[in-house]
Amino acid sequence: AQAALFQSQKMEAVGQLTGGIAHDFNNLLTVIVNNLDLLTRNARDSRDMRLIESAQRAAERGAKLTQQLLAFSRRQPLQPALHDPNKLIEGFEAILRRACGELIRLQLALAPGVRPISVDAPQFEAALLNLTVNARDAMPEGGTLRIATGNVTLSEKDGNAAGLQPGQYVSVTVQDSGIGMPPEVVNRVFEPFFTTKEVGKGTGLGLSQVYGFVTQSGGHIAIDSTPGQGTTITMLLPAQAGEGDAMENEDATERPARD
Ligand code: ADP
Repeated sequence: AQAALFQSQKMEAVGQLTGGIAHDFNNLLTVIVNNLDLLTRNARDSRDMRLIESAQRAAERGAKLTQQLLAFSRRQPLQPALHDPNKLIEGFEAILRRACGELIRLQLALAPGVRPISVDAPQFEAALLNLTVNARDAMPEGGTLRIATGNVTLSEKDGNAAGLQPGQYVSVTVQDSGIGMPPEVVNRVFEPFFTTKEVGKGTGLGLSQVYGFVTQSGGHIAIDSTPGQGTTITMLLPAQAGEGDAMENEDATERPARD
């Protein structure tokens, strides 16, 4: 719990700092991108063109980085609404498939009757994409990526272990058959800017976004990883029907409970 507290304080400090910088930097990038666009019209030769295009690519990368920083620092506040998690995932499947590339088999195992969750849909999608990109990078020679959902009932005891209230949750599990992580990497993956990827490939902000999204949605994230075998990341998100409230009773009369 001490480590988790330290982690969240550190995330908050880094978030405030980077949020301010990212915001101003984004405005500057807009000026750079607009001027580069103007320059392409006046390029004298192919060498000019190459230099401009290389500057454009660098600016694009800067824009992507600041976007991640802004999302992570929550300059854009979460706007939660009730969603069927399976529908969110199916609606995002095409983008996930594209991110996977051709070497990776994407399997969806979406449990029927999964409860609605209250989440910010774009942030949920961003989290799925970040987890998918990491899984892809962990399987350079190909493999299987499995995204599964399910209803979970947390008992008092399990809830305490995860720092959550007992009650109804939905699990969204992203499992890969990739390189896995040793414990010293697992311990640091949620740290902003922690990356083992080469310069220009990783920002170290992907899992910070996922962590921020899940905890601010009132959920919990767990990692299970074995070097050489793969990684399973489970997001537990609070589901709509709480313990013994009217919704759940209504639910039970309409269709049989599935969990
Ligand atoms: P980035 O992907 O930009 O490095 P992340 O915060 O998303 O930043 O991930 C941090 C690090 O965690 C990665 O550099 C990698 O070492 C490790 N990691 C994350 N997901 C996986 C995975 N599915 N398999 C193996 N290692 C992973």
